[in-house]
Amino acid sequence: MPNTGEKPGKGRYRCTKCGQVVVFDNASDTLPPCPKCNNAEFEKVGQEEKMDLLKTNFEDWVGKKPDSESLNTVKKNFLFYFKKVIGIIPFIDQVVALWLMLNDKEYPLIKKGICVFALLYFIMPVDLIPDTIPVAGFLDDAGIISGAIAIYNKDIIEYSANAGNWLKENGFK
Ligand SMILES: [Zn+2]
Repeated sequence: MPNTGEKPGKGRYRCTKCGQVVVFDNASDTLPPCPKCNNAEFEKVGQEEKMDLLKTNFEDWVGKKPDSESLNTVKKNFLFYFKKVIGIIPFIDQVVALWLMLNDKEYPLIKKGICVFALLYFIMPVDLIPDTIPVAGFLDDAGIISGAIAIYNKDIIEYSANAGNWLKENGFK
């Protein structure tokens, strides 16, 4: 089990006492004492568990700058996963609107937290499940995506308006 003062590498670590999760982007970072309860003992959070945590922590991502690990994961994997599911899922325009927002350099990074969160949640099954994906598996995704859209409210309008064009330009329509 990783302890305070050690360098456990990239990942998420949960305090064994209070459950607070610490995110590590940098392999050379030293694990601090728990920021909440000062405990020194942590456990690493696994991939599937990570997804559950993401879901329960939805609110935590609102109005926050996304961590670079999550941002890079989305940027690297989005198109690959998008191509696989485009014919199956009904909320494509919403997903594209979030993707366009993510890639807009004019839109402040500090406000992109929930955008990255929603897209991360959307692409995550890419590592976890095989090629044939039951539609029921998307119910969660749909909830998260529309939740994010609702939070962005007016900010998302211009990206939604451009979603159709983006789909055409990229040969999806
Ligand atoms: Zn703690």
